[in-house]
Amino acid sequence: MAAIEVRDLVKNYNGFPAVRGVSFSVEEGEVFGFLGPNGAGKTTTINILCTLLSPTSGHAFVNGYDCTGEPGRVRSSIGLVFQDVTLDGELTAYENLKFHCYLYNMTRRLTEERIEEMLAVVGLWERKDDFVKNFSGGMKRRLEIGRGLLHRPKVLFLDEPTLGLDPQTRFRIWQFIGGLKEKEGSTIFMTTHYMDEAEVCGRIAIIDNGRIIACASPGALKNSLKGDTVYLKTADDGRAQVELEGKFGLASKRLESGLKLIVPNGEKVIPKILSGLAVEVNEVNLKKPSLDDVFLHLTGREIRDEESAAGGERPKAERGRKRVARMIMR
Ligand code: ATP
Repeated sequence: MAAIEVRDLVKNYNGFPAVRGVSFSVEEGEVFGFLGPNGAGKTTTINILCTLLSPTSGHAFVNGYDCTGEPGRVRSSIGLVFQDVTLDGELTAYENLKFHCYLYNMTRRLTEERIEEMLAVVGLWERKDDFVKNFSGGMKRRLEIGRGLLHRPKVLFLDEPTLGLDPQTRFRIWQFIGGLKEKEGSTIFMTTHYMDEAEVCGRIAIIDNGRIIACASPGALKNSLKGDTVYLKTADDGRAQVELEGKFGLASKRLESGLKLIVPNGEKVIPKILSGLAVEVNEVNLKKPSLDDVFLHLTGREIRDEESAAGGERPKAERGRKRVARMIMR
């Protein structure tokens, strides 16, 4: 049984097609990345999977339960970490987590054990008795992620969970999530704008304008570009350019300093160039395609847009709209 099964999913907002016939499945224990530019339909799809939103048509199943027909069963088998903070500022960190354990019917002993473990993981044990309203944005985010993991869900949904966190905290959180997958076999469904996080996925689906335009492992996606970039710095770039064309049939581009070539297999081409060129080569660099390159190639846009590059804050109206939609669905 697939952990997540989506068939021909469609969501229209007042006639606007946000999701236009999406199908995919996620195996148990898989880390599945869902990437796309802003407005591509990621959050809408996640909200349907988490039973916060009803689809216009199509089907979605999580842990074998129908997201439309069996929302209660879906909810009890998943964990959610969203972009927006949903903690209660008037409660302490410990109380926020305790409340979550209570909702999931966890025993008192398990509650204490898990809260202690989780507060240590997210680095907030020392602050457990402080009111959340006095926490920084990063601290709230860490606590939110810890809360989503408390009941060890079979499927964990992470919608840009580490947005705006410092690299050290991101590293610790991913280390923990990786461990959770190993220990508990949890399935992880995530969106992110950080490409290093997307690299941890077994497979990645790229969604654009409400449609999935690619779905494969990070390696396969990168290989699909079929082009390595080679940077050369020589004693005479003009002459080297002529030689590359004449001897190897390789077109190159003059940079401010050096040459740039796109070749199918850099490791094989570089030794031939080095031994075949009469011009002295001073420096050579090989760049394999990255997931950023794949994303740019497929969508025509950079994954890290101005919004996330500016510190991870979403426009207020947008955040408000999503939060209100979620509250209504609850
Ligand atoms: P982001 O990366 O910015 O979070 P996303 O891929 O999660 O984007 P969605 O939030 O799913 O995209 O939005 C998909 C499209 O649907 C966008 O054009 C968005 O403006 C629109 N949309 C989302 N929610 C609503 C709503 N409640 N009412 C009307 N339009 C909406």
